[in-house]
Amino acid sequence: MSAPETRPVSLWDKTAPPPPDTPAFEGERECDVAIVGAGFTGLSAALTLAESGTSVTVLEAVRIGQGGSGRNAGLVNPGMWYHPGEVVDVLGEEAGEALNKAFGSGPGVVFELIERHGIECELTRSGTIYLGINDKAVAHLAERAEAMNSRGGNVELLDRTATAAKTGTEHYAGGLLDRDAGTINPMAYVRGLATAALKAGANVHSGSPVTAIEQDGASWVLTTPRGKVTAAQVILATNGYTDALWPGLQQEIIPFYFCQFATKPLSENVRQTILPERQGAWDSRTAMNMFRFDAAGRLIVGTVGSIAEDRRSFRNRWAERTLEKLFPHLGEVEWDYQWMGQIAFTRDHMPRLHKLAPGVMTCIGYNGRGIGPGTVMGRTMAEHILAGGKGELPIPVTQPQTVPFRAVRASYYDIGAGVLQLGQMLR
Ligand SMILES: Cc1cc2nc3c(=O)[nH]c(=O)nc-3n(C[C@H](O)[C@H](O)[C@H](O)COP(=O)(O)OP(=O)(O)OC[C@H]3O[C@@H](n4cnc5c(N)ncnc54)[C@H](O)[C@@H]3O)c2cc1C
Repeated sequence: MSAPETRPVSLWDKTAPPPPDTPAFEGERECDVAIVGAGFTGLSAALTLAESGTSVTVLEAVRIGQGGSGRNAGLVNPGMWYHPGEVVDVLGEEAGEALNKAFGSGPGVVFELIERHGIECELTRSGTIYLGINDKAVAHLAERAEAMNSRGGNVELLDRTATAAKTGTEHYAGGLLDRDAGTINPMAYVRGLATAALKAGANVHSGSPVTAIEQDGASWVLTTPRGKVTAAQVILATNGYTDALWPGLQQEIIPFYFCQFATKPLSENVRQTILPERQGAWDSRTAMNMFRFDAAGRLIVGTVGSIAEDRRSFRNRWAERTLEKLFPHLGEVEWDYQWMGQIAFTRDHMPRLHKLAPGVMTCIGYNGRGIGPGTVMGRTMAEHILAGGKGELPIPVTQPQTVPFRAVRASYYDIGAGVLQLGQMLR
């Protein structure tokens, strides 16, 4: 057996309060529900089930937050990448509005859990800002504002001057401030969810990859390297880290990397000149740029693409050049940490909800917007199980569909992002 993984997966892994003790699973156990994956989705489901008195076992391949949940940018936004009107265009009126309602509630659900369970996760509630790089993008932000506010959202369109005042850069033509949103240290949040689930009575095991799921009468048997868990119901909560466990599931996700770079903590004076109200920000570029602070005053910038060995120096240069352009007064900065994570893209940028077999459910494909949606869908799948598999679900239930040429698409996206980033650096 290989040694347990201990390298930090992100800055958040280094700075979050330590995780609860979750030893590897050993032996044999029967429970009502088994959950594969300890991210927002799996742990939100586990918490809901345990609070209702259901026996639940979470099996995590590596550690809590090993997937996107411990690596993301920590922007807690309502809804999806598409604005609510575009969601209706893709899914139709009824299904689209059901998804808009469920995911629109995401930040509220997350903030309520943080408060109720006393999760210390660097929460800021001053909102997030979606930045428009030119007038065309700002016109789209105005459309987005209308689509969101007409459904109970709380967004405000900022002109060029107001955007510069909120961000500290004159680079943008306008912005959309979402007052319902916020930022967190996502690893601290996911560890907090694990602690809350454990307190409620859930069993959570790290270092326990599920290598097989087999039907045995009305139950499912999940095999790990040192044991077997038998459960009537199974939730697969593996999103961008979905492996070959369930045939065909991995093939409907286009794996896509997003990388982030954190400076060492900046001086108090400099901090006041950038995002003085501490919103998290991202922009309308196809190869999107994001920036935010952590609680210690590190400025974090991120963009799409990998920092694997062969891409690292290019994207390091991208990070330096981006800060030079956005905040020329910063001068040369020292870097503290860099990391990346895998996003689960779907072809239409909509999440997928599947009943894979009687008693086996999954929700994957959050398309890089999974803090609120993952928390909501974990809870929703748990409630669906508690209701005996009945009741409305906010995403149409479908069967997995293979994305043709997914590996080619994934590398095409990464190369395409590189070309766009190169153009950005040369301009
Ligand atoms: C770099 C990055 C930046 C992002 N930024 C944001 C953001 O700012 N805001 C936002 O809302 N969303 C963001 N996202 C998306 C968000 O992080 C994800 O949608 C969310 O974390 C998904 O949570 P999850 O619990 O479904 O899956 P994950 O957190 O990915 O967890 C899946 C888990 O399943 C485990 N697993 C897989 N296979 C097995 C197996 N066979 N046995 C046992 N365990 C298994 C993995 O080890 C992993 O821990 C970002 C994602 C990335 C990668």
